[in-house]
Amino acid sequence: MDFSLDEETKLFRDAYVQWVERDLLPLEEKEKITQDTAIDRDLVRKIRKQAVELGVWGHHMPEDVGGGGLSNVASVILREACGETGSVLGSLAIAGPEGPSPMHLVFNEAQRKKYLDPVMEADQTCCFMLSEPGAGSDAQNIQTRAEKTGDKWVLNGSKHFISNAHHADWGVVFATTDAQKRAKGGISAFIVEKGQFKVGRQHEGMAGYEGQAEVIFEDVEVPEEQLVGKEGFGFAQAMAFLGTGRLHIAAGAVGVAQFLLDLGIDYAKQRQAFGQPIAAYQAIQWMLADSATEIYAARNMVYHAAWLLDQGDHATREMSMAKLYATEMVNRVCDRVLQVHGGMGWMKDTRTEGFYRSLRVMRIVEGTSEIQRMMIARSLFAG
Ligand SMILES: Cc1cc2nc3c(=O)[nH]c(=O)nc-3n(C[C@H](O)[C@H](O)[C@H](O)COP(=O)(O)OP(=O)(O)OC[C@H]3O[C@@H](n4cnc5c(N)ncnc54)[C@H](O)[C@@H]3O)c2cc1C
Repeated sequence: MDFSLDEETKLFRDAYVQWVERDLLPLEEKEKITQDTAIDRDLVRKIRKQAVELGVWGHHMPEDVGGGGLSNVASVILREACGETGSVLGSLAIAGPEGPSPMHLVFNEAQRKKYLDPVMEADQTCCFMLSEPGAGSDAQNIQTRAEKTGDKWVLNGSKHFISNAHHADWGVVFATTDAQKRAKGGISAFIVEKGQFKVGRQHEGMAGYEGQAEVIFEDVEVPEEQLVGKEGFGFAQAMAFLGTGRLHIAAGAVGVAQFLLDLGIDYAKQRQAFGQPIAAYQAIQWMLADSATEIYAARNMVYHAAWLLDQGDHATREMSMAKLYATEMVNRVCDRVLQVHGGMGWMKDTRTEGFYRSLRVMRIVEGTSEIQRMMIARSLFAG
């Protein structure tokens, strides 16, 4: 097993980090941008256009759709590097639910041209609409339905917690097309354009600006051309691609944990108590040593799962394990580093305060920790 990067990928990662350090971090400091700032949309667009030029925005997509065609190992290393900079603006350059996803590869040629191409160029953004008020983890229980009338589909229902819904030019929505079959051939995916769906209330979260919103479908007519893939198999298509999303979250968690650990080490070296730096006390050293150990474990789990994917393995269990461990780990590391900072760690003057709130969501999105455990356990008892 070899996780080392070739020279070209190393240069690519370093170019991204240099850009963040040279252009984005100073801007963040000057404009006092934090996780809680509603960032100007023109600035978001500008950053993403620069990310397209750098090849970062679509790095995880295959070359035939204009992506970077990076291996999975290289891709997670880039995501880790993004977290390690601690940059809020830098994370906008790495596509999340508003950007291109391997799930969009199910699109046919016409759909790729009309919808995926502008997102690859960061001229448009999109969203992923699965969760509903009555169905989150139990996604196959969604109530949004699509009925065929003539050559059109008519959609009714509602979604919530949808990231970027209020800015998206289009989204992929999941709806039942056969209530009996549900996940086994009864849930379909459709592309819906801005204006076809109604955006409801924006949610106010524990951290961050309002990034999520409700979406309402009231007799929305969608032509057959907007059906994604095969009728009834939208759910299976989505699940097939959610795994890599989980792995990318895990990689980001490793990077942020390293950023926080470095912050803790720096602070421990300069903060004096009882006549010496607190770094001299074993209680502090052990918090940092435990954090470094857990980061090392999580990093290797992420790299290994990515390496398995590169070998053609589905790595479903390993990706769940990496997501579970890395996202719980980064919350533990943040808690310890905040403790190392004492009262200062609780104040908005330090980065630990914002991260303490914003990292919490990592244990919930893209499958909660409990759902990851459920999937891991299932694999233990299967066959
Ligand atoms: C910031 C943010 C962004 C999001 N973005 C999107 C998005 O873009 N698109 C989208 O579709 N969704 C999005 N979501 C929704 C997210 O995917 C769901 O919140 C998540 O899947 C959990 O569903 P739920 O909130 O309904 O919790 P529930 O499913 O109601 O779970 C409640 C609790 O019960 C536990 N639980 C549930 N089932 C089991 C079980 N079988 N065994 C043990 N425990 C169980 C859960 O782990 C959790 O602790 C977002 C959520 C947040 C917070």
